[in-house]
Amino acid sequence: MKEHLNDIRLSPHFTLGEFLNLGKYPDNIPSIQNVANMTYGCHLLLEPARRAAGPIIITSGFRNTQVNKRVGGVSNSQHLLGQAADIRPQDPAQFQKLIDYLRHHTLTDQLLTADSWLHISWNPFNAPRQYVRIGYYK
Ligand SMILES: [Zn+2]
Repeated sequence: MKEHLNDIRLSPHFTLGEFLNLGKYPDNIPSIQNVANMTYGCHLLLEPARRAAGPIIITSGFRNTQVNKRVGGVSNSQHLLGQAADIRPQDPAQFQKLIDYLRHHTLTDQLLTADSWLHISWNPFNAPRQYVRIGYYK
């Protein structure tokens, strides 16, 4: 049953399984609203970012409260809502392409980057903050 969740397609190139990490966190089950939020992000931000920068590897997407605590996420993390994804760029060139694309996207809520990761968030319910904080690739 839970494995079944992995195969739910949120958009042409992203599945729910990529957001849940059920292999590591078997109880990381989203609500329908969480799934709707992830679907919004996939269609409006991640698919166009993929077109600009190539295939995207999500390292952390949705987190329930327990998972968020385990990974040291902030208590109001948008990962709790299905409104964020952490991406591991495949190389410095993709890192830069993702930054160039997402920092100017009108639906970017927060774009935070450092070392070799990006955190991108969206909010279907409020005006995007378009907050950008860029750290460098190492
Ligand atoms: Zn994040």
